[in-house]
Amino acid sequence: MPEVRQNVDAAEVAKFDAVASRWWDADGEFRPLHEINPLRLDWIRQHVQLNGCKSVDVGCGGGILTEAMAAAGAEVTGIDVAEGPLAVARLHQIESGATVDYRQATAEEFAEESAGQFDIVTCLEMLEHVPHPPQVIQAVAKLLRPGGHAFFSTINRNAKSFLFAIVGAEFVLKLLPVGTHEYRKFIRPSELEEWSRSAGLELQSSIGMHYNPLTRDYSLGQGLDVNYLMYYRRPEAE
Ligand code: SAH
Repeated sequence: MPEVRQNVDAAEVAKFDAVASRWWDADGEFRPLHEINPLRLDWIRQHVQLNGCKSVDVGCGGGILTEAMAAAGAEVTGIDVAEGPLAVARLHQIESGATVDYRQATAEEFAEESAGQFDIVTCLEMLEHVPHPPQVIQAVAKLLRPGGHAFFSTINRNAKSFLFAIVGAEFVLKLLPVGTHEYRKFIRPSELEEWSRSAGLELQSSIGMHYNPLTRDYSLGQGLDVNYLMYYRRPEAE
């Protein structure tokens, strides 16, 4: 499926491969993902009961959310295109005792073989790293059973998000390595909403994620102007 494979940015994948070994270092490059993980897991659990649910984590990386979903009782598959993070994820679960089924695939490829199979799809901090995010959202919708739940998170595109998510996070506070994010790939909530609606998904709820540089704390709350999460459902009957 050549047009599907094109929805992978080789430079992005190489970036994640290069730092994969430090994925689980809570003080390393992925520290922000470790710090936000309990918040985003809580938010997901406010909307869905995870116990016994079939879920897939799209762009799972080293498995920070993936393992947490499994620990909360979901039956989880993790997919990613990058080999390095997947290798780390597979090793880490041997240590942690998690039972995630990790596969190397794009969302589009995986949706071809597993359409309609999942109660929950999570796709966090991933859409801003792909060339055509609407195509990933289509695949997410296709993976869901009717009535299934989709969770996305990404970064808004405006002057404030440029200042906070790039200048602040990468250059001033050095929360992330320089070059982690590209401004032009950031996604406005209105764009995510339009793409999700075209994929047949219905918005249920959204929330912002905020970082306080003084207390070094993350919190969820009103205001989608920088980092944000959105929760969708595939309608029961179509
Ligand atoms: N979702 C994880 C990791 C976010 S980092 C978390 O929030 O904890 C982004 C991940 O997306 C990386 O692991 C990267 O390899 C993956 N990725 C980038 N492009 C992709 C694509 N086209 N298909 C699947 N995964 C992709």
